[in-house]
Parts: sequence; C-alpha cells; structure tokens
Amino acid sequence: MTTRQGSVWLLCPGCGEMIYGRSFDRADKVCPLCGHHAALNAPQRLAQLLDEGSMRVLDHTIPDSDPLGFADTEPYPERLRKARIRTGLDEAAVCARGAIEGHPVIVAVLDFRFLGGSLSAAVGEAITQAAEQALRERTPLVLVTASGGARMQEGVLALMQMAKTSQALGQLDEAGVLTVTIVTDPTFGGVAASFATLSDVIIAEPGARLGFAGRRVIEQTIRESLPADFQTAEFLLEHGIVDAIRPRHELRSTLARLLSAATRSGAAHAGAREPATALVTDPGELADRHPWETVRAARSLDRPSTLDYIGMLVSEFVELHGDRLGSDCPAVVGGVGYLADVPIVVIGTQKGHTAAELTERGYGMPSPAGYRKAARLMRLAAKLGLPVVTLIDTAGAHPGADAERNGQSVAIAENLRLMAGLPVPTVAVVIGEGGSGGALALAVTNQVLMCSNAVYSVISPEGCASILWKDTEAAPRAAEALRVDARSLLELGVIDGVVPEPHGGSGADHAAAASALREALTGVLHELMPLDAMTIVVDRRARFRRFGMAPNVEDAQDIEDAEQRETA
Ligand SMILES: [Zn+2]
Repeated sequence: MTTRQGSVWLLCPGCGEMIYGRSFDRADKVCPLCGHHAALNAPQRLAQLLDEGSMRVLDHTIPDSDPLGFADTEPYPERLRKARIRTGLDEAAVCARGAIEGHPVIVAVLDFRFLGGSLSAAVGEAITQAAEQALRERTPLVLVTASGGARMQEGVLALMQMAKTSQALGQLDEAGVLTVTIVTDPTFGGVAASFATLSDVIIAEPGARLGFAGRRVIEQTIRESLPADFQTAEFLLEHGIVDAIRPRHELRSTLARLLSAATRSGAAHAGAREPATALVTDPGELADRHPWETVRAARSLDRPSTLDYIGMLVSEFVELHGDRLGSDCPAVVGGVGYLADVPIVVIGTQKGHTAAELTERGYGMPSPAGYRKAARLMRLAAKLGLPVVTLIDTAGAHPGADAERNGQSVAIAENLRLMAGLPVPTVAVVIGEGGSGGALALAVTNQVLMCSNAVYSVISPEGCASILWKDTEAAPRAAEALRVDARSLLELGVIDGVVPEPHGGSGADHAAAASALREALTGVLHELMPLDAMTIVVDRRARFRRFGMAPNVEDAQDIEDAEQRETA
C-alpha cells in the first residue's frame, strides 16, 4: 500500500477500495474497511508500540563489511549504500529501550524496506546485543519480525547469525527473562527458523505469513497448489505455531498484560496467610451419599467449565495456544493472568455446555497436542517463576487413532515427569470429572483439590463395570467399589481438600462456585508461595512417593525427606 507523498486517497490491497490516507495513518496503517494490516517500518513500529516519550534507541557497534566481496548485478556495498539512503537506517534492525504501559522493555524491530529485512551479520549482531542487554538488566525482550530470510550477499556468515541469535535467546530462557515475538508480514527463512519462533509467546498480526520455505518453492517442489491461507497467522494458530493473533491496536495492551505477569511474580510473595479455611479436609463434614449420584452430578453440563472459572477468577487473562509442534488442541486451554493479586499460569480441560460446544472442544478429551501445550505452558511458568493452577474436567484422554499415532502415552507420561519436578507451586482442582491418566497428566501437583460433587477415578464406572462385571448396568456398583467421590478420596489421602459447592451444586450458582474456588486457591497458594523451589519439589515428590508405601517405609521416607530438606 504505497502512495506518493501528499496523496489523499490510496488503494487498499486487501479490499481494493479507496481509503482516505489520513484515517489510514491514524489507524497505524490498518484498512478501516477490511482490516488489512499494511507494513510499518521500524521507526513507525517503535512509535506504535512504545509509550510516548519513553523510547531510547540502542547504539550498536555495527560491522560494516562485505565479507565475501560480493557482487551480483551490482556490488553489495553499493546495494547497502542505496538501502541506507532510501530508508535512513544503518541496517535492517532497529533496537530500542522503552516502556509499554509503563513496563520497561527492550524491543528489536526488523525493517522490511532494508533489503527485505534480511538477516545480515549486522542484524544478527543487533538482535544479539539487544538480547544481551535484556539479560544484563533482566528486562523482557520483544522482537518484531519482518524478513525474507538470511542475506545471501553475506553467504554462510549470514547463516551463522541464526545460531548466534538462537543461543542468545536460550540464555534468556536460562535467566528467566520473558521474550515475546510479534510476527508481521512476511517472516521467512533464517529469521523464522531462529529468534522469531524461540520466544516464550508468539503473537501474529492478522494475515501475517511466517514460514521456513516460501510458498512458490514448496509448490514447485510438491507440484501442488497450496490453499490461500497457507502460512498465514490463522493457519499458524490452527497448527499450534503461534500463541495468538492480535490486531495492531491490541498489541500494546496484550504485551502489557504479559509484561506485568512476567515481572510481578516476586511482588506477590507476601508471606503465609491464614490456611485455606474454605477447604473441607475432614471427610466427616462431607455428605454421605451414593457415589453414583456424585458421578451423575459431576457430569452435569450446567456446571461451570474451565473457561467459565477463568472468566470469573482470572483477571488480565491472555490465552496462549499451541504445542509448537503442529497442533492446537481445543480440549485444553491455558494462559497467563492474575488470581486475586497473584500472577499465575492457569491450564485446564475444557468441555462446554451445549452439544455444539462439546463437539468444538473434542468433548474435553485432550489429544497429545493438548498435553504438550500444557507442558509448554508449565515450562513457561517454571521459567518465569509463576505458580501453576490446573482445572480438570475430563472423561479422559482422547481415545482416537490419531492420538495414538501422535504418542498419547508419551505425552501423558512426559507430563507426569515434568510436573513432578516443576520448581514452582502447583495446585490442581478436579472441578467435574477426573478421568484416569488423562486427568492425572494435569494433576501431579503440590496440592490436589476437588469440588464436592467431582469424581476422580482410574476408569469410568461404566468401563469398569463392563470389564469386571461384564455388564454396564453395574456402573453404580462399580462407582461405589472404585471410591471415586471426594469423601472417599479424602479418606484415601489422594486429595488434600474439598471445595464446597453451593446448595444444588456448582451448576446452580456459578458465582458462588467461583467464589469458593477463589478462596480455596488463594489460601493454598499463599501457603505454598513462601516455600523455596527445593522444598516445593521435595514435598511434591514425597506426596506422590507415599501412595502404596507400607506404613513403616513411610516413616523412613519422612525422615529422608526431612534430611534432604535440611541439606538443601
Ligand atoms: Zn481494505
């Protein structure tokens, strides 16, 4: 969408309509008619993202070299010289420090006008120096990408920039510094396959394309034409590569939420408060009724879903999508937000209230991609030092052929191991059905809670009845024998507390159910958050080590745990 200087009307390449230049500029070059996002150059992007008056451009020692003495139709130094005159920039990357809604940040922006935003030694150096600055100061790093790939004129030295920038982002992972990429159109090749996709959170502008190989190259190779949306933001979201799509005017507020949660984690360590008084820990206080009644109550579709609870309990929520491996499972939702004053990562299985919602969410039965998305978010929580809350309502992991092809067992097993070792406080709540390994894959936590009408079981009562009684009609008897209800599980020590439900069950009063859950969770988190990472992990491992242990062995384990803690 280029236009001559001073022209009043211009033609939108998205919808082909004439649009008024000034309203287009006011909207940060987004078409007011069709929402087409036209390119911003680096100075425009920095002005759009950063708080007014906060920007300080970072000076870099830029290598000014033509390492190969390269010439195609013209010598490389001549191309560089022209690009500098045309853009007013030294190179294709501009880095600056500044603030977004008051949160300090270091931003590196690629400018597509400068030789297609290509990755040169100087660009690699600028990105790396920005990352090193972020590391020294522990300030979050935001990368805004637009690039055709590595710069051919610098040959294999351009290729090496992929390794150099990637290891710089790796160091930020080790140091727990948040990284976010804003993918803009187009982001390809060496930039897509290095720093652009290594960030903790990847946000794409609508329609922005990202890929390793270009569309034409792929079409020529496979001799097929690709769908229109191939490699677009929408395609990338569906395939689990990006976390979210945000229109340009929402980027600042989304970034501010992420920056706030990632940098405020220390602020909430206010010390231990009163224990969670809202929790029932004495089985005698729970209603004694037939477990089959509880099974039916737990499955009721009017109960609050995970997203209902998140909507009522988690403020400033940013939902994150995808396993970064090719899928985004709709049965698992998760993201970052605040529970009361505590920044958390929340993850849960999502069913729905209607047949349409259930279909859309895969009946709340996660695929391997769902468990891998959960794992990715839990690793993010560990990196940023945020507690993890999981909400569980699933009949079980999805029993499908594709799930098996994609390693359902491996995905579940890897979550069990990952959760056992997470160095941050973790709490699981079974809010409805807790179905077998598919539920446990989100429930290896410091404390495991259940709503009073929830159930948690190794197999569904129907499944058990058909295998052992050879009769699904025996499901009520199986439910009783399996001891799936909160009262039984509290007695068995499988759960630590029960969140009381309002009269008539959680479905009868969502607000009251959410309020009880909030009180229970904040109480548990305030008990856990003052503990150091070593204690958190040792306690959690001891919790699960005990199941099935002979009593005297348990005593020995207690002593061992105590010793381990003392030496830690
Ligand atoms: Zn348009």
